[in-house]
Amino acid sequence: MPRPIQALIHGRALTANLARVRAHAEDARVWAVVKANAYGHGLERVYEALRSADGFACLDLAEAQRLRELGWRGPILLLEGCFEPRDLEFCSRLNLWHVVHCAEQIDWLARHKAHLPQRVFLKLNSGMNRLGFAPTALRSAWARLNALPQVDEVSLMTHFADADGPAGIGAQRAAFDAVTAGLPGERSLANSAAVLRHMAQGAPGGGLVSDWVRAGIMVYGSAPDFPEHDSRHWWLAPAMTLRSRLIAVQSLSAGDTVGYGSSYTATAAQRIGIVACGYADGYPRHAGSGTPVLVNGLRCSTVGRVSMDMLAVDLRPVPGAGPGSEVTLWGCGPGASVLSIDEVARAAGTVGYELMCALAARVPVALADD
Ligand SMILES: *Cc1c(COP(=O)(O)O)cnc(C)c1O
Repeated sequence: MPRPIQALIHGRALTANLARVRAHAEDARVWAVVKANAYGHGLERVYEALRSADGFACLDLAEAQRLRELGWRGPILLLEGCFEPRDLEFCSRLNLWHVVHCAEQIDWLARHKAHLPQRVFLKLNSGMNRLGFAPTALRSAWARLNALPQVDEVSLMTHFADADGPAGIGAQRAAFDAVTAGLPGERSLANSAAVLRHMAQGAPGGGLVSDWVRAGIMVYGSAPDFPEHDSRHWWLAPAMTLRSRLIAVQSLSAGDTVGYGSSYTATAAQRIGIVACGYADGYPRHAGSGTPVLVNGLRCSTVGRVSMDMLAVDLRPVPGAGPGSEVTLWGCGPGASVLSIDEVARAAGTVGYELMCALAARVPVALADD
């Protein structure tokens, strides 16, 4: 028998979450962000469920190529643009839209022997200080691009650092509006957090206009602003389940310890279950005792350190559990039980994004039939 661990990808949840993007960004067109192999879900596995998007946004040329091979003829955006001049050949051949965030990328375009002019998204650094032109350089970059025969339409974009938190988007939005005032072209500003928190008319700090939104994490069912809001608050459903089974049970007496470093000590008699899941499966090693986990759909918590292939669970809430019992590390459990990946991430000092992306290659993945 194979090791009982498995990941499930929920196509229905992906489609429903994409519909939530549209509900929040009614007049916008939606890019489903599928970088990092669709946030660890697998590009080929999410493709059918996300075909109702207006476009796909990714990072690697290889991902763009896989989308074309899957038959996608609509827009594809390269979120960081080209990494070297010959990437422009791929953009021509695969008809990719690409971000232009630095002067070198304009130089490459100017030397590119274009077949057809390319659509570009000129990126402003409005304060995140990662990629993009400084406000003082944006208009000359725009003028340069606009004059190139290699370039078709020039659109404008920026990325918010604090769309998920109390600092908000006010200063970056004001910087963007000031620098781009009067320039023609579509705008793309919103990631998931901005879609959820800043696009609604009438909401405080709301009314953000983004002709194209770039929705990543919410499509996969994780709340970008957890723990202020959880996925249920935003009506998002988990797109990934990580599940396994108990492969052993231990009966502890008071004073017994569990696992490497003996970091957990039983204070009374207690049963613990050993789960076939460890950090080599992508489960976070930094998730300490007390991290939530479902056994037979009931909420329990981990005890002791996570090892490479196993972790331990306190079985006191599920006296009937034994070897073979179903364990949900995150996602959908039996019945209607759900454990949000955000809760597990928080217990490990990280975010849902990282856990999804870190699902290990050794975990078999199936499409759920719900
Ligand atoms: C990854 C990424 C997104 C998506 O962000 P989410 O928080 O996952 O919605 C949007 N824009 C850019 C530029 C990105 O790199």
